[in-house]
Amino acid sequence: MYPKLDVYVEKIIHNALYLQQECRKVGVELTVVTKVVRAMPEIVIPLRDAGVGSFGDSRMQNIKRLRDAGVENPLHLIRIPMLSEVDAIIEHADFVFVSEIDTLKKIVAAKGKRKTAVLFMIDVGDIREGVWYEHADRSLEQAVKIAGRRLIGLATNLGCFGGVLPDETNMRMLCDLGKRYALPTLSGGNSAALLLIEEQRLPKEINHYRVGEAVFLGTDVTRNRSVPGTDPDTFILQAEIVEIQVKPSVPVGKIGQDAFGRKPEFEDKGLRKKAIIAVGEQDVIASGLLPLDPKISVLHASSDHTILDVTESAQPYKIGEKLSFRLSYGALLRAMTSEYIFKNIVV
Ligand SMILES: *Cc1c(COP(=O)(O)O)cnc(C)c1O
Repeated sequence: MYPKLDVYVEKIIHNALYLQQECRKVGVELTVVTKVVRAMPEIVIPLRDAGVGSFGDSRMQNIKRLRDAGVENPLHLIRIPMLSEVDAIIEHADFVFVSEIDTLKKIVAAKGKRKTAVLFMIDVGDIREGVWYEHADRSLEQAVKIAGRRLIGLATNLGCFGGVLPDETNMRMLCDLGKRYALPTLSGGNSAALLLIEEQRLPKEINHYRVGEAVFLGTDVTRNRSVPGTDPDTFILQAEIVEIQVKPSVPVGKIGQDAFGRKPEFEDKGLRKKAIIAVGEQDVIASGLLPLDPKISVLHASSDHTILDVTESAQPYKIGEKLSFRLSYGALLRAMTSEYIFKNIVV
């Protein structure tokens, strides 16, 4: 069944345990963020069995999926919640990240199986979620009154929306607020914050990280780098060639927009040998397909067809053959979500 996504679970385990150990050396507890694999139990349970302590996900459906699969470890809901999911949170999640006082009130008032602990989100510059650092005091004073000891800490997220890099200055903001309100847990970051640990620049008060990308792909897209010590060959997508023909590099006729309203640009390189693979924007982000054959370049894709230039490759590719790719974070997210991609767990 193609397209097929091979999942190398042992390599993911290696990455998780390695990063967990590097974090522990500096007093940081690591929560593995599973949203990019939709918390697929076939991947998460081996991670748990190998010794990963806690998991986080942005979606309650994924957290429920883990509970249904028998995962009893601490689970964090890392996306600020919808008011409409508060009851599910109290049922299934041990930690929740909030940025709105009304949400906090509803959580504290809700009755359910768990006494879900709360971390308040502070926006230290990335302009995504969290109360803006300059007026955080107003919210935190209220939050302490409302939640009491259930408010266990503060968290911040960087590098995801504004692309702001974590550094000593923005981490310090979190530490200062944490100290002022005597909050013990300070959750400082995601994959983009790992560099601060590597370079021993992380303030010692930061004691929790939430990491997905570096565990599952060995990369840190915000800093455009691979994370040292991790294995990048965790997911390989195989797609089948359905056409190989020599065609011009520039279309013939008047050019409007493509199927997605984009205006593709074409460089005239004369006649080129092009392959079409049976995978498209419905399954991946085509620009995030990274061919294992370095002589292949990905040109463009519509919903179901991706066009590759294979002119420079030494391989005599034929239709029916499968081509292999590593994936960017965005491409993996979409591939895991596409029901048209067959997920093949390789242990
Ligand atoms: C996705 C996410 C993470 C994990 O980020 P990675 O870059 O995948 O390590 C951590 N925290 C929050 C709030 C997130 O949304």
